This record gives sequence, C-alpha cells and structure tokens, in this order.
Amino acid sequence: MSGPGRGQLVAEAPAAQLLPRLRIILAAPRGFCAGVERAIAAVEAALRRFGAPVYVRRPIVHNRTVMRTLEAKGAVFVEELDEVPPGAIVLFSAHGVAPAVAEEAKERALIAYDAVCPLVAKVHREVVRHHRGGRHVLLIGHHGHPEVEGTTGQVPPGAVSVVQTLDQLRALGLPRALPVAYAVQTTYSVEDAAAIIALMRALFDDVQAPATGDICYATTNRQAALRAIAGQADAIIVVGASFSSNANRLADIAREAGCGSVQLIEDGAELDWAMLAGAETLGITSAASTPESCVAEILELLEGRFDLELSEHRETDEAIMFKQLRLD
Ligand code: SF4
Repeated sequence: MSGPGRGQLVAEAPAAQLLPRLRIILAAPRGFCAGVERAIAAVEAALRRFGAPVYVRRPIVHNRTVMRTLEAKGAVFVEELDEVPPGAIVLFSAHGVAPAVAEEAKERALIAYDAVCPLVAKVHREVVRHHRGGRHVLLIGHHGHPEVEGTTGQVPPGAVSVVQTLDQLRALGLPRALPVAYAVQTTYSVEDAAAIIALMRALFDDVQAPATGDICYATTNRQAALRAIAGQADAIIVVGASFSSNANRLADIAREAGCGSVQLIEDGAELDWAMLAGAETLGITSAASTPESCVAEILELLEGRFDLELSEHRETDEAIMFKQLRLD
C-alpha cells in the first residue's frame, strides 16, 4: 500500500511494483452512527445484566455481521413475539415499533426494552402531534420497512399514507384542501425526499413540515460524503447489507452520480473482482449499520491484488452520541 510508510520495507517493494495501481478514496463519515452504537450497546448491556438468552425482535440493526457477533454472545433474534418464552427479556430494534408491539409484549408477560433510535422516536412524536392536530400524514418512506411500519403504527389505521414515489403521491387522489403534514423515513435519500416534498407543496394548499428535518444527520452526512467522491471514482463499493435501507440509498446515489460499477456488498466474500477490472480510482463507503471491520477486511483483500494509494475524503465531523438505554 502506498502513502504514509511506503518504501519503509525494502523487501516488499518489488512485489508491489508488479501489482496494478489502485487509488482508493474512503468516504467519511461512514459506518456506525450513534443510534446503531446505542442499540448494539443495549443488547450487550442486557446480556451482561440478565445473562443469555436475551431475545431481540427483528434485526437489532440491519447487518448480519453485527447480528452474528451478538448471537455468539447469547442474543436470539426472532421475527415475532410469539417466539419468545413468557418472562423472557426482549429488546426492540433501533428501527422502532408500533405501540401495539409493546402492548403485545406486556400481554405475553415479557420484560421488554425499546432500543429505538432517539431520532426515529422524534419522528414518532411528530406524527402523533400532526394526527392530533387534525392533519393527514404523508410519510415518505419504503413500504414494508420496519421503521415505516413502526411510524405508521403510532396512529390509527388510515391516518398515514406512505409514499415512496411521485406517482404514488399523485395516485392517492387526496383533495387539495386537505390539511396534510409530512414525515420522512430517517434513512431516505435526501434528494428523492426533496422531489416528493416539492410535489406535495404543489398538490396541497396546507402542508406542514417537520420542526426539524427527519432524515437523520448520519444519513445526510454519509450521502453527502459519497456524492463528493462519486464523480472521481471509476468504481464504488458500498459496504452494507442488501436489506439495509441506508446502504441501498448509498448505492442508488453512486449510480445516480453516473458510476458504472457499483457494488453493494456486506463483506469481502461478496467482492466481485470483475467489477474492478480497469478501474483506476475506487470509492468506498459503508452504511450506518456496518462495522468498520468489514471495510478493513475488504481493504486487506484489495491490498493482495493492487498497489493501493489510500486517501480519505472527510465531508464533516460527527460528534453526536446518545445516552445509553436504561435497563431498570
Ligand atoms: S441511521 Fe439515523 S435514525 Fe437510523 S439509527 Fe442511525 S442515527 Fe438513528
């Protein structure tokens, strides 16, 4: 690998010269956000305090490496609460749940803790406030995503319409005079949301926006950092799970930026070498639920085949931390 320290090991130099050069730009910020760190810490703290097994409803965060690591420590992931024995400890994921899920946990005599990200909980509160204020809520988000299910479940059925595209918004056929408010899935594409909000303003006379933006700081920063490097890259690797919303949005952004070779991979085993053929500059980023160890593993594999020139583009610094979940 070139850059700092290059040439210090004389014995390595001839081998490196035989390898094709590859310039790598790492996007920053990338990887874990404060909400993901808090949710993982909550499972670990529950395991320490109560011992294994600790049940977790749905993936605590959308990343298999994280889930496998927690499983090895004694976490048991389930889809629904009827898989959890009465009296057991159960945690809800960072994506949030509808109040009906918490109710069900009570009925089943489970000891439940909610590891919802505080920024998702903020969206929940807003949606409830808008509904109580007599507004129909338009939630910009992906149908079926757990965060969207949890947000929709905060209010009675029919109080929220989920819209994912401009066409879906038009197809709702709601009257222009209906007072509406919008909310946005925290991991949505900043640009796609802006286009849908612009159409809302054209279709309705009275549109209320969230007090502050719903798309969270981590999503915004990771998308901006990737946009900043995408134009310079012949190929881009987004390290993240195929079922992670924010990982998929990063891959979309790379494609929209015109990059013809975009891989969304969870770890080195999924690396498609053919997609790097002829690339001189490779951009790498990772989703908010991806541990940095997955990026490090991919860099190590690349180092075996290329003479790497490594740099990092830092778009902004992040200092946000959330209080740990209390397990009283
Ligand atoms: S991506 Fe944003 S909303 Fe989701 S857990 Fe991280 S900080 Fe919270």
